[in-house]
Amino acid sequence: MDKKRWRRPLLLACFVVLAAALLVAVAVWRGSTPPAQQPAASGPSQELHTAATFVMDTLVDQQGYGASAPEAMRAVNLYLAAYDARLSLFAEGSDIAALNAAAGGNGTDVAPETAALLRQALALSAQSEGAFAVTVAPLTLAWGITTDTPRVPGREEIDRLLPLVNDAAVQVDGNRVRLPEADMALDLGGIAKGAVCTDVAAIYDEYGVDSAWISIGGNIYARGTKPDGSAWRIGFRDPAGDGYVASFLLTDRVIAVSGGYERYFEVDGQRYIHIIDPATGYPAESDIASVGAICADGAEADFWSTTLYVWGRERALEKMQAGLCAILLDDAGVLYVSESLRDGFKLYDEASGMEVIYVPGG
Ligand code: AMP
Ligand code: MG
Repeated sequence: MDKKRWRRPLLLACFVVLAAALLVAVAVWRGSTPPAQQPAASGPSQELHTAATFVMDTLVDQQGYGASAPEAMRAVNLYLAAYDARLSLFAEGSDIAALNAAAGGNGTDVAPETAALLRQALALSAQSEGAFAVTVAPLTLAWGITTDTPRVPGREEIDRLLPLVNDAAVQVDGNRVRLPEADMALDLGGIAKGAVCTDVAAIYDEYGVDSAWISIGGNIYARGTKPDGSAWRIGFRDPAGDGYVASFLLTDRVIAVSGGYERYFEVDGQRYIHIIDPATGYPAESDIASVGAICADGAEADFWSTTLYVWGRERALEKMQAGLCAILLDDAGVLYVSESLRDGFKLYDEASGMEVIYVPGG
């Protein structure tokens, strides 16, 4: 299927010229939000502040208005580094590394925040009917797709690891967490970036920032509105290119996006993506190119984006009809958009031939 079939060459050429003009902005805004936002008013408290860093193995961008925004954004960046050090599967000394090393033993005490996130992740995971698993780590480690040394494990190895993927077996008692089987392991990669957006909101609260956004590798939290009262406009990326296919308005909610295009490796022309289907042990084969789930709670948004991707279009659309707000681009180039996003929704020119279907419910 040619994912670019909707593109018009002339408009694309115009876009390339525009993109060249915005080169610096595009570099900073990669994978995040709309290419063009103008400060709406002048004056010290209305100045637009920006911050960019690399943490949690991804680019993090922030923009915010108000005198306290620079300090708040610095505090956020420090918080993200500490959060990563606590939760990363790979950081030596993290709660997750300690838990994984102690699997099969009597359990490990973790920070209260880690235990709370784990409890929330397990409660959500139970709604995914096996599509989402924080215990997917034995498989993600075997594939190593987000590492420098990805590989294709053999069938026997996958069959041996599959029974270790079992979220229902994880025991959380207060701050003590126990993985009952040796070789079980946790990977919070499917939920941590969204979940931290809720912590960022608390930091913005603390510093009195009421107009800002943060993008953590494409998971975006938009706080309040711009000083002129207009909502933040968020770009939905083209999974087949560097640009955006559409944009929409977001206020006080998080969008988390999952897609096979984000992280993958290729061997012999075969693409292996970073989202694993716990039912098979292999990278998920989805008819979704990219899906963004939008929730007030960041962990929920991140959980749903990964889950919907593994579920595939039909079940994802059922979930949207049942009330989940989302944007879903399928592999045939049809864009499904929750009805509640219709107001302010825009298709970008280079995607103007794309079919858009508004989905009632979410
Ligand atoms: P996301 O980008 O939010 O869809 O999350 C993908 C990341 O979550 C991967 O890089 C893994 O760390 C982890 N992961 C992969 N497959 C799953 C799964 N089925 N359930 C939960 N987490 C997963
Ligand atoms: Mg996710």
